[in-house]
Amino acid sequence: MEQSYNCTECGECCKHVAGFLDTKPGTDECIFLVDNLCSIYEFRPEICRVDTIYHKYFSGTEYKDFHNYTAEACNTMIRGAGLDDKYLVGEV
Ligand code: SF4
Ligand code: SF4
Repeated sequence: MEQSYNCTECGECCKHVAGFLDTKPGTDECIFLVDNLCSIYEFRPEICRVDTIYHKYFSGTEYKDFHNYTAEACNTMIRGAGLDDKYLVGEV
């Protein structure tokens, strides 16, 4: 069965893309983030596709290890932003 990342759509990763993607003036937020959602989701770049990154660059790693390591990074951002615990990414 195809596995996929347990993104909770908190939007935090899209708010820290300075140096990687174009940002809104005076912020580190992606120009394509609208109402906390990606406005070009179907066409978003590779860097925004967690599972594509896994298959292309980390397929030699167990998926659950990649997933849980990525989840730690998400949860650090989620806690840092003071978001509700409902956005925390669970382990697989
Ligand atoms: S920070 Fe993680 S959980 Fe939040 S939107 Fe980005 S990938 Fe999803
Ligand atoms: S392109 Fe979409 S998914 Fe990627 S950082 Fe921008 S808003 Fe987020």
